[in-house]
Amino acid sequence: MDGEFRNEAFTDFSKDENAQAMRAAIERVRGELGREYPLVIGGERVKTGRTFESINPAKKTEVVGTFQKATAELARRSVETADETFKTWSKTLPEERARLLFTVAEILRERRHEMSAWMVLEVGKTWGEADGDTAEAIDFCEFYAREMLRYSAPQPITKLEGEVNRLEYIPLGVGVVIPPWNFPLAIMAGMTCASFVTGNTVVLKPSSDAPTIAYKFFEVLEAAGLPAGVVNFMTGSGAEVGDVVVDHPRTRYVAFTGSKEIGLRINERAAKHQKGQIWIKRVVAEMGGKDAIIVDADSDLDEAATGVVQSAFGFQGQKCSACSRAIIHSDVYDTMLEKIVERTARLKLGDAADGATNLSAVINQKAFKTISDYIERGKADGGRVVAGGGSDGEEGFYIEPTVIADVKAGATIEQEEIFGPVLAVIRAKDFDDALVIANDTEYGLTGAVYTNDPEKLERAKREFHVGNLYLNRKCTGALVGVNPFGGFNMSGTDSKAGGRDYLGLFMQAKVWAEKVRAGENAKEKRTAS
Ligand code: NAD
Repeated sequence: MDGEFRNEAFTDFSKDENAQAMRAAIERVRGELGREYPLVIGGERVKTGRTFESINPAKKTEVVGTFQKATAELARRSVETADETFKTWSKTLPEERARLLFTVAEILRERRHEMSAWMVLEVGKTWGEADGDTAEAIDFCEFYAREMLRYSAPQPITKLEGEVNRLEYIPLGVGVVIPPWNFPLAIMAGMTCASFVTGNTVVLKPSSDAPTIAYKFFEVLEAAGLPAGVVNFMTGSGAEVGDVVVDHPRTRYVAFTGSKEIGLRINERAAKHQKGQIWIKRVVAEMGGKDAIIVDADSDLDEAATGVVQSAFGFQGQKCSACSRAIIHSDVYDTMLEKIVERTARLKLGDAADGATNLSAVINQKAFKTISDYIERGKADGGRVVAGGGSDGEEGFYIEPTVIADVKAGATIEQEEIFGPVLAVIRAKDFDDALVIANDTEYGLTGAVYTNDPEKLERAKREFHVGNLYLNRKCTGALVGVNPFGGFNMSGTDSKAGGRDYLGLFMQAKVWAEKVRAGENAKEKRTAS
């Protein structure tokens, strides 16, 4: 718990004992599939009689969990319960909240494979991807707990003779936390923990594609001793109850990660003043991406091809940071394409529960259709499918890792976020042209450049407008603390999760100045307070 923050190491599944432990965890979790879970409001377990199922995308008939559809009335009650709990929780000491978060990290560490196994079965993460997600969740807890201690320490302000001045960070109020399904533990836990460690209370509305892992995390919070009502667990359709909690006048802020469309909707609704509302709501929104890797003529092509394929197809391309565009210098275009195709062909598509699988099914029927439509659109617009292109929706939502070559800059699949295993390969005349193409979308999340030319690396640092730029490495795999994460433009509100500014988004600064009366010693007063 003490000491400097260090990232959690990833599990090496090539070691037999680790692989066995993971297999055992998946078997245990399989034995728990299909249970029904309640809403939890102020510690009270509530069932509504209207439910929905979360299924395994790799085996459509396997029900992972059954969840309640909250009503508008229960959604309002969740906000009001969080509002009531804020009166006490906001008064707890930052040290106490940080300690609790360290305990959450410890429990997650103990249940590491179990948490990962839920992700394998609920969202189709391969072992390595699921393990990375759990490690990131632990990192968020460890990092934000330390950050809370840093924010609660005396803040540097200029001294004035005859006064004692202080700046303290205080919580905001009720936060509505709305995560996506694609980092169902890390992002969901990150936004939730950032909220309550800073003294806020939460209505957590997980994605309907990943409610079980969120519930398992909620159980971890309870086991760590988080008082009832600090985090309230509410499932249901985003469309049905999302607006209700976003609009509620007692909601103080919304922490959202998801698509551009929903992010913009939340931003717009939150901006509207409601009757009885006495603040301007804050919105922290992390949204989509259309991330590119530029490969220069003068670069290590093998390394670049490996980086492109890993970034494009890790977790089926369902990462906001996924490389969906490889922009390649004309001089090396054909050689690079061959290398990309070769590596793509080696990927094993299958059930995520099998440790040898490289990529698995996409999240749901809707995604299966949207992604398939994008592949057709790519072809219709003159793209050439050089790897994959096929799909099989019988048992699960399987789409082959697909590479579409000769995609024109400005074409639909070069501009819109696909969020699936589809890579568009674009030919650039030269490095200047590559930078123009890379920057020419409405997003600005991640990007990478492979080149051996130091001048071009410098230019990329200045001219490639993305929140997270990687040089001579892949564009996915940001680490908490090391690569604070978040994008520009339509990729969000420019925040950086896992960075030193982040907790500031969940607090407000209160400043007090006290006059030192004649005879009083300002220095003593400062130390005493
Ligand atoms: P989504 O926008 O469909 O859903 C996100 C969340 O919003 C879900 O919990 C959903 O139930 C909820 N929601 C839906 N309608 C709502 C409404 N009217 N009011 C309130 N909430 C509502 O996104 P998704 O499919 O879950 O996730 C994929 C998207 O997330 C991609 O665009 C991806 O790029 C993005 N993403 C971004 C980051 C980042 O850090 N920038 C990280 C991960 C994912």
